[in-house]
Amino acid sequence: MKNNTDKQIGKILFTKEQIEARAAEIGKQIYDDYNGEPVYLIGTLRGAVVWMADLMKNIVNDAEIDFVMASSYGSGTTTSGVVKIKKDLEGDIYDKNVIIIEDIVDTGTTLKYLKEHLADRNPKSIRICTLLDKPSRRIADIEADYIGFSIDNLFVIGYGLDYDQKYRNLPYVGYIEA
Ligand code: 5GP
Repeated sequence: MKNNTDKQIGKILFTKEQIEARAAEIGKQIYDDYNGEPVYLIGTLRGAVVWMADLMKNIVNDAEIDFVMASSYGSGTTTSGVVKIKKDLEGDIYDKNVIIIEDIVDTGTTLKYLKEHLADRNPKSIRICTLLDKPSRRIADIEADYIGFSIDNLFVIGYGLDYDQKYRNLPYVGYIEA
């Protein structure tokens, strides 16, 4: 076994096929909800890139993509509670239908900060689409509008999600003991 895509790390929660099927459902819902209007997709680096790639292929609206990097986590599995914008958008979101694409909403601290930060630029609308949601962990008053899957309080890896920057390339969502 030469790399971590060849072997199973942790226990599988959602397969690639399950996630792709969910991306297709949500993509269709987005088209309906926006009446086919253009959307501005903002992926949160680095965790959301795999989910974003699946999702955007299923969004038939005209779409621009952009990326932002906000962080509240250091290394390991616990939050620092302090949010910083490490990389801002390249484009202008004024009067656009923004959809923030997240990997996971845990305490919600990062996302609440990010949503407020982006709302200041007066987009036409702003919604959140997350692959995973851990509602039992929520501290900040924020909910995603589109949720791939709700999960229990597990530390998940794969499909973009890391443990100390490893395992983002696993082609499934798994969990490991924190
Ligand atoms: P929040 O601010 O909602 O507490 O944390 C959001 C960020 O924490 C996510 O974007 C992700 O980077 C990280 N995070 C939260 N829970 C998990 C998890 O179970 N696994 C991994 N790999 N990252 C997580």
